[in-house]
Amino acid sequence: MCDEFIQFVRALYEEPSAPIPLHVPVMGTPEKEAVAAAIDSTFVSSVGAFVTEFERDVAEFSGAKYAVATVNGTAALHIALLVAGVQPGDLVITQSLSFIATCNAIHYCGADPLFIDVDEHTLGLSPSALRSWLERHAECRMEGTFERATGRRIRACVPMHTLGHPTDIKAITTICDEWSLTLVEDAAESLGSYVGNAHTGTFGRMGVFSFNGNKVITTGGGGMIVTDDEQLAVRAKHLSTTAKKPHPWAFEHDEVGYNYRLPNLNAAFGVAQMSRLPGLLASKREVASRYAQWCEANGWTFVSEPQGARSNYWLNAVRMSDRETRDAFLAATNAAGVMTRPLWTPMHRLPIYASGLRDPLPVTEALAGTLVNIPSSALANGRS
Ligand SMILES: *Cc1c(COP(=O)(O)O)cnc(C)c1O
Repeated sequence: MCDEFIQFVRALYEEPSAPIPLHVPVMGTPEKEAVAAAIDSTFVSSVGAFVTEFERDVAEFSGAKYAVATVNGTAALHIALLVAGVQPGDLVITQSLSFIATCNAIHYCGADPLFIDVDEHTLGLSPSALRSWLERHAECRMEGTFERATGRRIRACVPMHTLGHPTDIKAITTICDEWSLTLVEDAAESLGSYVGNAHTGTFGRMGVFSFNGNKVITTGGGGMIVTDDEQLAVRAKHLSTTAKKPHPWAFEHDEVGYNYRLPNLNAAFGVAQMSRLPGLLASKREVASRYAQWCEANGWTFVSEPQGARSNYWLNAVRMSDRETRDAFLAATNAAGVMTRPLWTPMHRLPIYASGLRDPLPVTEALAGTLVNIPSSALANGRS
């Protein structure tokens, strides 16, 4: 069974023998020319025309009014949470099934993550689990929402669009409104994913993208905060640029800020990548549909985009019947040079985040033990 899968992947990528990676960036002449132009301009660091252009491109693509570029997605999350008003001692609701950046950003603010289970079909934060937990454990007061047992403020909610598949963000938005929680979307994996006609990351007060080397497009390293709120955008830019007050020559900083601005070199790379994005998304969709067909024909479970949503199919995934089958599949494919990976170890299983508050997480546990990511790069014909 694994052999047939391996043959299929090798045929898909027209690669009879060399190792097939999980996800590779697509880059070439446009990126080289853009980076060269940044060098020629002498603006290679955190000021430059490409940073502004890249922000404009991402804002326009996502339909957000404002975009603020940062050195990576983790920094974007950190700034977004600070701007959302997250303070030391706060609780921030999120999913345990995520890359560690989500929890780390919460921790950098001095707050603690509070884990709610994910939904079996979207792989993202479950609205019904969220509502049920809030009804059982939280109370709304004049000043905000508090956890009853500890009296701690629950400030924000950070759902994540897992593997690029949009979570049920409309239902989560409604719940966050009802409970006065600031919604910040971790859309790091979901550039090019939509719910209805709206881009992921534009439902919350802020959304965050990543341009790390393994994401749909890359800037080498980079991130972006998007928002429709001008004040939040201004504050995010201020905090991410060392909180320097605008002035023709003086260095005055009005609070402790961060040196998180995306360098112009990386932004130049990003501008070139943005013009490839539609082609990459089309190619990744083609890959996903070929996998879906193969899985259907062979009785495997392929993870498809949720109903009513359009996924960027960043990382494709298959679901195995149990952990043993999954481990055998991981061993066989990796030994054959076809790179596959399990999902992240859930955050509540890591000693650093194990002691926090959480609801039971049966779906998180089940998915973490059975999902496998399979090679998902754009096809060669989508790379010119
Ligand atoms: C990639 C990613 C981030 C941000 O990662 P950086 O490497 O800092 O850009 C944040 N959250 C999730 C879920 C991610 O996958």
